[in-house]
Amino acid sequence: MTAEYRRPSTLPELLTDMAEPGAFALAGGTDLIPLRTAGAVSPTLLVDVKHVSELNGITTEAGTTRIGAATTLADLAEHHDRSLDAILDGARIVGAPQTRNRATLGGNLCRSSPAGDTLCGLLVLDAIAELHSLNGVRHVPVRDFFTGPGRNVATPSEVLVSIRLPTRHAGSAYHRFTYRRSMDLAIVGIAARLSIKNGTCVDATIAIGAAAPTPQSPPKLSSAPPATTKQSPTPANK
Ligand SMILES: Cc1cc2nc3c(=O)[nH]c(=O)nc-3n(C[C@H](O)[C@H](O)[C@H](O)COP(=O)(O)OP(=O)(O)OC[C@H]3O[C@@H](n4cnc5c(N)ncnc54)[C@H](O)[C@@H]3O)c2cc1C
Repeated sequence: MTAEYRRPSTLPELLTDMAEPGAFALAGGTDLIPLRTAGAVSPTLLVDVKHVSELNGITTEAGTTRIGAATTLADLAEHHDRSLDAILDGARIVGAPQTRNRATLGGNLCRSSPAGDTLCGLLVLDAIAELHSLNGVRHVPVRDFFTGPGRNVATPSEVLVSIRLPTRHAGSAYHRFTYRRSMDLAIVGIAARLSIKNGTCVDATIAIGAAAPTPQSPPKLSSAPPATTKQSPTPANK
């Protein structure tokens, strides 16, 4: 089936195009085009999201970092901001350089693969997805975004415009296990964020990918084990 291609340059034009039945947002196309070729999706209108200014760029203001949804993983890989490390670690290992030059952070989030390499980082850094449609704007915490493998709460006419992250004074990282050294998907991926005060860890968050239908950050994983009370030895004469 053929699909019409449109390239809006303003956000209102983009939202109007996305309101048409059969419209799909096209970012880097590294997931969407193979899915279309395999017959898993049948868009009748491909709406290129990359040329709208609101979906581009990385800015930090008033304690919040805003990453445009169409920011490529290659641009993120070259970005140096220690407060985003867990996301940047993920961006740096997706596919090959050619993949990262096309693929976007918004596409990785909207594809919602359980093994998406930026998703655990987005979870531990408390990211919020900014979704726009002709009906208005919604801010959805990424921890409430995923509903199943390849599924999420965004409606077909909604566009992910940006991802917002509260600036945190904490260290974070993402690491994945793969069978091959390069160009492989995670068997399991783990992100962690730790806050250290006076040499003591005062806050920790962990997220796990590729181990369940959606990336997970269950609060129990991050909470301290229950304190164990030391048993006094029973006196020998009792
Ligand atoms: C060779 C190869 C290797 C890969 N390796 C990895 C890997 O190691 N790790 C990994 O995580 N992924 C990997 N991928 C998958 C893919 O590259 C990533 O998921 C990528 O981030 C998708 O981004 P994209 O911009 O190409 O999305 P697209 O393919 O353009 O879109 C993906 C989905 O998101 C929707 N979408 C995109 N942008 C928006 C938006 N702004 N608003 C609403 N919906 C939107 C599209 O409609 C589509 O349904 C690989 C893919 C290939 C082809």
